[in-house]
Amino acid sequence: MSDAVTMDKIVSLARRRGFVFPASEIYGGLGSSYDYGHYGVLLKENVKARWLEAMVRERDDIVALDSSVILHPRVWEASGHVTGFTDPLVDCRHCKRRYRADHIADSECGVRPSKHPGETELCDLTEPRQFNLMFETRIGAMEETGQAAYLRPETAQGIFVNFKNVAQIARRKPPFGIAQIGKAFRNEITPGNFIFRTLEFEQMELEYFVPPAEADTWYRYWIQERLDWYLGLGIRESHLRVRPHGADELSHYSSGTSDIEYLFPIGWSELEGIANRGDYDLRAHTDASGTKLEWVDSEAGERYVPYVIEPAAGVNRSMLAFLVDSYDEEVVAERPRTVLRLHPEIAPVKVAVLPLIPRNADIAGRARRLYEELRKVIVAEYDDSGQIGRRYRRQDEIGTPYALTIDEQTLEDDTVTIRDRDTLAQERIPIGGAREAVLDRLAQEWKTPKPG
Ligand code: ATP
Repeated sequence: MSDAVTMDKIVSLARRRGFVFPASEIYGGLGSSYDYGHYGVLLKENVKARWLEAMVRERDDIVALDSSVILHPRVWEASGHVTGFTDPLVDCRHCKRRYRADHIADSECGVRPSKHPGETELCDLTEPRQFNLMFETRIGAMEETGQAAYLRPETAQGIFVNFKNVAQIARRKPPFGIAQIGKAFRNEITPGNFIFRTLEFEQMELEYFVPPAEADTWYRYWIQERLDWYLGLGIRESHLRVRPHGADELSHYSSGTSDIEYLFPIGWSELEGIANRGDYDLRAHTDASGTKLEWVDSEAGERYVPYVIEPAAGVNRSMLAFLVDSYDEEVVAERPRTVLRLHPEIAPVKVAVLPLIPRNADIAGRARRLYEELRKVIVAEYDDSGQIGRRYRRQDEIGTPYALTIDEQTLEDDTVTIRDRDTLAQERIPIGGAREAVLDRLAQEWKTPKPG
């Protein structure tokens, strides 16, 4: 087994099996935008559910929030986004293309793609100009009189501006956190790399408020915690690393940032950022709004502005990492097979029920009943079309951990075959215990059989 994955193979499988489609495809597509089909939605929802579980359900110190996409425009002035959330861009006067000044070395010349912008005699690049990444819109019916507003470029600010509401009602004392999953929008001009960088995407962000003296300890704690989350969901350790930002890379508010990077087919790239934001955000919103965002403990006579540790992850980028890490090809009985070796906890479908001879009404009836029983507790799929080999291949390509096959023997001795996606082992088990057998297997610890 070799790591045969490429971005093209992922794009093609995602499309073939209905995980991800180009957006507005019948109109020629829209750059850096994608739509998620059935299995894409299930996979994405599983990623989000595992994150929420790890953040909220399994802990006592974090509560959930769902804030608006459109916030008061002054939020983005106070946060520094109106002036500072920019990329340096250069235009080519010849080919009319636009490039990120800091990504020239990874960009293709619009006329000669084998060259980088600026490398041919025809290239005529402008000086870099700062370009704001926020999408602007208007509130109100009239284009001219409506109030300018922005689609949020990150979910974090919605958390900071709710700090007082949440801290009072949740009756939590630092260290405590607020977790949010939601859409964010950025007018990214660097296209490509599938769902790695898109105009709209979902973020999973935690703002963890701590006493200032404990900030560094919690910063290091969250780096490890988030690394363990990816490992626990099956990502190979050899493909994950932590990269601390150099002093020249740090944002204006940050006294420490580390990226968790994944070895994508495009090279090591950011999967998630963990930042020590200090008290920058709460102070900025206190100054701009006049509302004191601080921790007050009247009993202890304590009052201070907490520091914030922020693990900020992308749903779509994680999903891409899970797809890439799980993609595998092998030859079985002289036939190639493609399989997504997804961790069972995030696999879109947990079990497939396959009647071997669908036109046999007794077999189909037994299969259908088993399927009805399973779908009450887990995502199950019933598939009766095509040869059994093809049906297995289809389930392999969407990463279904188990398949149950009902055949003539089932009618004689009430047993079914359970097939394991990873080992391809097949075992006959009593149909009455099939549900428990699947649930037991799904609950077992899982490690990818892919080599590191
Ligand atoms: P990059 O350097 O890749 O532009 P960033 O450092 O600006 O990312 P953050 O602002 O830290 O990203 O956002 C947190 C996370 O949100 C990122 O680690 C990534 O997973 C995700 N993310 C950010 N921008 C995009 C995008 N345009 N498309 C998809 N996911 C994104």
